Amino acid sequence: MAAYAHHAYVLGKEDREVNDWFFKGMRAIGEERTVEKWLDLLMEFGLINLKCMALLDEANTSAYRHLVPTKVSTIVEKGPFIVISGHDLRDLKMLLEQTEGKGINIYTHGEMLPAHGYPELKKYPHLKGNFGTAWQNQQKEFIDIPAPVLFTTNCLMPPKPNYSDRIFTTDVVGYPGFVHIKADHNGYKDFTPVIEKALELGGYPEDHVMTGINGGTELMTGFARNAVLGVADKVIEAVKAGAIKHFFLVGGCDGARTGRNYYTDFVRQTPADTVILTLACGKYRFNDLDIGEIGGLPRIMDMGQCNDAYSAIQVALALSKAFNCDVNDLPLTLVLSWYEQKAVCILLTLLALGIKNIYIGPSTPAFFSSNVLDVLVEKFGIKPISTPEQDLKAILG
Ligand code: SF4
Repeated sequence: MAAYAHHAYVLGKEDREVNDWFFKGMRAIGEERTVEKWLDLLMEFGLINLKCMALLDEANTSAYRHLVPTKVSTIVEKGPFIVISGHDLRDLKMLLEQTEGKGINIYTHGEMLPAHGYPELKKYPHLKGNFGTAWQNQQKEFIDIPAPVLFTTNCLMPPKPNYSDRIFTTDVVGYPGFVHIKADHNGYKDFTPVIEKALELGGYPEDHVMTGINGGTELMTGFARNAVLGVADKVIEAVKAGAIKHFFLVGGCDGARTGRNYYTDFVRQTPADTVILTLACGKYRFNDLDIGEIGGLPRIMDMGQCNDAYSAIQVALALSKAFNCDVNDLPLTLVLSWYEQKAVCILLTLLALGIKNIYIGPSTPAFFSSNVLDVLVEKFGIKPISTPEQDLKAILG
């Protein structure tokens, strides 16, 4: 939640109740509590985190306007370029301004991909595309890269010697021996060292074809709450007419474990009358697949970063209102891929909202001791994933 609050804060938004809760949470550590009391506190936290995610959503959409559906290429054009990774849209905006007219293209990486959907960022013609896939592949994908890479948040892995001379960090990321771009007292960052490196390295001599993990060269993003709810009538009509039978929210973190191909296989096997909403790094397992459309809408809709989980929650709540039913009675199943600690706060928000029967894998979070798992299964119906075939059968019948 601190990460969400930080991203909102740099865009001028803060919330007293959210800030105060950090102290409340820290004070609770070490207190004697029953399971019920811990659960109460965690559910209270889940709702505060929802408030914090709403704050960040407001910060991003007021600064860069609401996301719009946008196609993003994975092909890197010839000539100098810079790759920017992480979540901090403000860093990207400053980099776009400082590279304007300099003959340098900008490519997003990892969680920066959804930036292409924001009108105030996509208006820069040199914001060209997305480089590579999710964070855990960087040590392979950055080998021989003829360009600098700027890390803005938590995605940096120990760089290989092959490319370590072209890594720059800013904000909360740092690494011994690497150039760190600091903000001045007004929050302005001077990215000149990164720009000079891009011009020195010169980029690829010819257009360089890169693909997603399934071989696709085009990704769609920008289906955040405003875009999806903007076509809500169409979606509701499609559900009522039976053209859409089920929604899956397949999202969460990605990682290097082999079991994560579950998510690719799951999406591939979903029937043609179902829609996949997705967000966060887990989408790189399938976001280059073309699995068709329903009524002019793509079957895979990328809602954004892990930071944009608020958008998915708003869509689920709007659908439950439109169908006059509880979220748990919607034809909607959440299938989450687990890795990072940051995702804990999103999970707690989903639980605090009463969302049940969430599938989670490929391994369960480390804090799921058998006692914790018992509580989560009993109260919330949490289910570890099995195989795509079995889980789809259980969900769709
Ligand atoms: S928290 Fe998860 S989804 Fe977000 S950047 Fe980290 S790995 Fe990706």
